[in-house]
Amino acid sequence: MPEEYLKYLKSLNDRQREAACTDISTPLMIVAGPGSGKTSTMVGRVLMLLNEGISPSNILAMTFTTAAASEMRERIGAIAGKATAKELTISTFHSFSLQLCRSHGEKLGRTSEFLIYGQGQQRNAIIEAIRLLEIGKSENKDGALLIGELSNSLNNPKQFKDKAKKWQKFVAQAKASGRTSAEYRKMGNEIGAAILKNYNNILKSCNALDYHDLISCSVKLLSDFPEVFKECQDSWKAIVIDEFQDTSAMQYKFLKMLASHHKITIVGDDDQSIYSFNGADISGFISFRNDFPNYKEIRLNKNYRSTRCIVEAASSLIQNNSKRCQLKNVLTDNSSGSKIVMKECHNEDAQCAFVVDKIIEISSNYSAANCCYGNIAILYRRQISGKAFQMAFRDRKIPFNIHGVAFYRKKVVRTIMAMLRTALPGCDDGSYSRVFKALMPLEKDKKKRIIDHINKISTIRRCSFLSAASDIFSAKISGTFKRSELTHGRKILMTLEMISKLIQREKSISAIISSVANMIPEKYLLEQRAVVDVDGGTLLNEDYDIRSVLQYLLDDVSEFLSTKLVEVKEEREISEDKGCIFVLKAFIDYLLEREKENFGARRKDNENSVTLTTIHQAKGLEWDVVFIVKANDSEIPLLHDFKGTVKDTAALLEEERRLLYVAMTRAREKLFILHVMMDSNWQMLQPSRFLKEIPRHLTEVQGEISFQELLIKQEALQKETAHCTTDLLIKEKQSEADVIPMPHEILDNHSSETSNELAQFAEANNRNDFLRRFSVE
Ligand code: ATP
Ligand code: MG
Repeated sequence: MPEEYLKYLKSLNDRQREAACTDISTPLMIVAGPGSGKTSTMVGRVLMLLNEGISPSNILAMTFTTAAASEMRERIGAIAGKATAKELTISTFHSFSLQLCRSHGEKLGRTSEFLIYGQGQQRNAIIEAIRLLEIGKSENKDGALLIGELSNSLNNPKQFKDKAKKWQKFVAQAKASGRTSAEYRKMGNEIGAAILKNYNNILKSCNALDYHDLISCSVKLLSDFPEVFKECQDSWKAIVIDEFQDTSAMQYKFLKMLASHHKITIVGDDDQSIYSFNGADISGFISFRNDFPNYKEIRLNKNYRSTRCIVEAASSLIQNNSKRCQLKNVLTDNSSGSKIVMKECHNEDAQCAFVVDKIIEISSNYSAANCCYGNIAILYRRQISGKAFQMAFRDRKIPFNIHGVAFYRKKVVRTIMAMLRTALPGCDDGSYSRVFKALMPLEKDKKKRIIDHINKISTIRRCSFLSAASDIFSAKISGTFKRSELTHGRKILMTLEMISKLIQREKSISAIISSVANMIPEKYLLEQRAVVDVDGGTLLNEDYDIRSVLQYLLDDVSEFLSTKLVEVKEEREISEDKGCIFVLKAFIDYLLEREKENFGARRKDNENSVTLTTIHQAKGLEWDVVFIVKANDSEIPLLHDFKGTVKDTAALLEEERRLLYVAMTRAREKLFILHVMMDSNWQMLQPSRFLKEIPRHLTEVQGEISFQELLIKQEALQKETAHCTTDLLIKEKQSEADVIPMPHEILDNHSSETSNELAQFAEANNRNDFLRRFSVE
């Protein structure tokens, strides 16, 4: 065995080494808690496979995010050499199944150039599917039923949008469960069956698949086409999967078929399963035991990542879950470390100010100030909670990572992407409509009237948006538009033609993107700048500046060209002259994957930046210092609009507890858990109910002030700020006014005097929420 391999295997502990060195023909299951070296052991396992003579090009490693994939490639590269690491296939489920579907597009009724529909395009296809049903309703023998369900929605845009949302969810569920339109018909769900059928037909006619289709189509390819099955067996002689707990039933089915040779290693932790809303199903562990009966199971129980205090606190929390497949006793030899800081803040602004101050304090303790930023993360439940931090970090010149979804959801970026899509065959109507909306130099309502008219014509004539627009603007159809409006429309049609020619002529996608961005009118760009009111003045959100947006996009192009494209190109052996369209398509696929991942952090190229990320995307990662922010009952657990049975609610609560568990176990040294007292509308918020489950002796409540003091401040503030924004609170915060004891401390220790005051305050201010929280029994 090469010396580097030996050195790595020696660095593992006995159990980890036993797992890595298990006979490669034995199906292996490694189950362990966070920070116990599962991913590290998986690296050892890959080295073992290589050592046993399996060629790197025959090894498939599945990770949950593209960032985790590149991190793993780097780690293996450092031991086995870059050339070997490059030959390995380390991929996410989606990107792997996408490649498989692309190679066999024709078997799925598509060309290999098929488009992938992201959320936006899926919504447009759903709208189209409902529209088709509306038109066809009189011809349908179940017309009465359909009219009852969908009546008048065409004339009511809001109602139509809500309906589309509902059906989009329905289609997603149908695809995750693998149910067909015929099955829904049998079950008596005529409308569901018809919408699903229309939706699938639309995607097929547009040469598109959506994200849900990728896995089910891969399963179909393996089960219906023996030659594809054989090809996969020949290609993937050994498979390793990290984060197995988040594998869906459909993904498991796919894995099981790929691993017919039984050379499979799965690595996971049921306590960290946080994707059930996406179909993740921990019963995969049970299926694995049944499907691979000669499996070996190894449990790791030593946490190397976190201080003892963090390990104990997290273990106490997770013990409150009743549905756990594998009970784990996690231990650590690490020092006890400092206590977990619990902090309640007045509102999100105060919370943000606290975190910024702490980060500055921490950085002043480092010898090179910048070095520390990469060791800090701020984790939140929902993307929106990251917004205040972005602004504050920008003001205080703290570098941070906020790439990913926040970026790709910007309207300007979506417009550029839509413009690029129009040059590809089978472009969806939604992209055309977005381009018209962006490029027409008219007021909002005028644009809306024009776009509604194009949609109406396309529905009546059953033609595409583009051909309806062409007919309208070339005056083939009489309409009610002014001459100037027709001229604008014609100009856009010309721009679309220019984009198409540009893509055929130009060889570099960076140049294409720059040219396309330059076609966007200044007026539209200005409209997109989010204007935030600050103390009567305005602040432009500089992120909407086209130059920085473009720079981000071009950075992604170069990252894509240097990493992903090489893999894709090698597989497809595409000829040079077809290059640009192919590269552009691959780039759009890549961006969609990034958007899908919702990834808020790129650790590799932003090592010296604070990471801002959702908890979901933090899985598998670790930082010295972690701030979990807005740990409120409205966020963790996120219960609003949840309408389920008692059983569903119990399951949901357990998943939400796992989410907090994942968040806490990302920290190596120092953990801060913050929650806020009220939202921006002065509505009281409750701290997360899970915080009570963290043993008090492991926590430290920072900077307490008396309740009376707080109340006086609050009353004064409320009067003062009755007519202005909560910005004033930020100033007040400087005087530590936001610091109050943790709720369990308050509830346990408050005197009857305090309670009376609280009750009076609540009554006087008509604050039932406050009253509920603090009233004396
Ligand atoms: P998670 O469940 O969060 O994905 P994990 O079980 O995959 O965690 P790793 O990320 O592999 O854990 O390891 C956690 C940390 O512990 C890493 O910093 C890793 O380098 C370190 N580590 C793992 N095994 C050992 C070991 N045997 N000796 C020292 N450090 C180790
Ligand atoms: Mg891991």
